[in-house]
Amino acid sequence: MTKIGVLGLQGAFREHIRSVEASGAEGIIVKRVEQLDELDGLIIPGGESTTMRRLIDKYNFLEPLREFGKQGKPIFGTCAGMILLASEIAGIDNVHLGLMDIKVERNAFGRQRESFETDLDIKGVAEGYNAVFIRAPYILEVGPEVDVLATHQDKIVLAQQGHLLACAFHPELTDDHRLTAHFVEMVEESRKSLAS
Ligand code: GLN
Repeated sequence: MTKIGVLGLQGAFREHIRSVEASGAEGIIVKRVEQLDELDGLIIPGGESTTMRRLIDKYNFLEPLREFGKQGKPIFGTCAGMILLASEIAGIDNVHLGLMDIKVERNAFGRQRESFETDLDIKGVAEGYNAVFIRAPYILEVGPEVDVLATHQDKIVLAQQGHLLACAFHPELTDDHRLTAHFVEMVEESRKSLAS
C-alpha cells in the first residue's frame, strides 16, 4: 500500500491522516527523521510556519526534508506547509525548505478575515470544492514550471509543480477528500516511476 507521511511536529496532522486513509493510502505520523525512508510521499500540515520551522531545526529535519523533495518524492504543503515549501516569502529573508518556485505572503487575506470558507473550482480535480481558510497565506507569484490549479478573488490558492503541491487552505478539515485523493494519485504515479 502507498505510504504517506504527515509531518507531526505541530499542527493539524491527525485530520490529514484521516483524509489520507479515506483516500485509500496508509497514513503515518512522522516524528523522527528515520521514518522518511519508508514513505512514498509526505504532507506538511498547517499550523504556524515559524513554530514548525523551530521544531524542524530542533529535530534536524531541514536537510532530510529537502533531500526527500529532491529525490522526486511528492510533498503536499498545506497552509503553513505551503509557506515552508516556498522559495520566497514576501518581506522575509529567511526561507525554509525553498523547494517550490512560488512566492508567498503570510496571513495575506487580512486580519478582519481570520478564517472563512468558500467553494473553489480546482482545475482537473474538483468543482465546488469546500475550502476552509485559517489565517491563510496566498501565492503572489509562480515560476514557469508551476501550474495554477485554483484561485480565490484572483489570488492563487493552489498550485502544482511536478511532484510538489501547495495550497493556502485546510483540505483535511472537511469530508471532501478530493484534493487529498489527487495527492494520493500523484504519489502512486511517482512510486511507479521511481520504481521503474
Ligand atoms: N499564518 C500561519 C503561518 O504563517 C499559517 C496558518 C495556517 O497554517 N492555518 O504559518
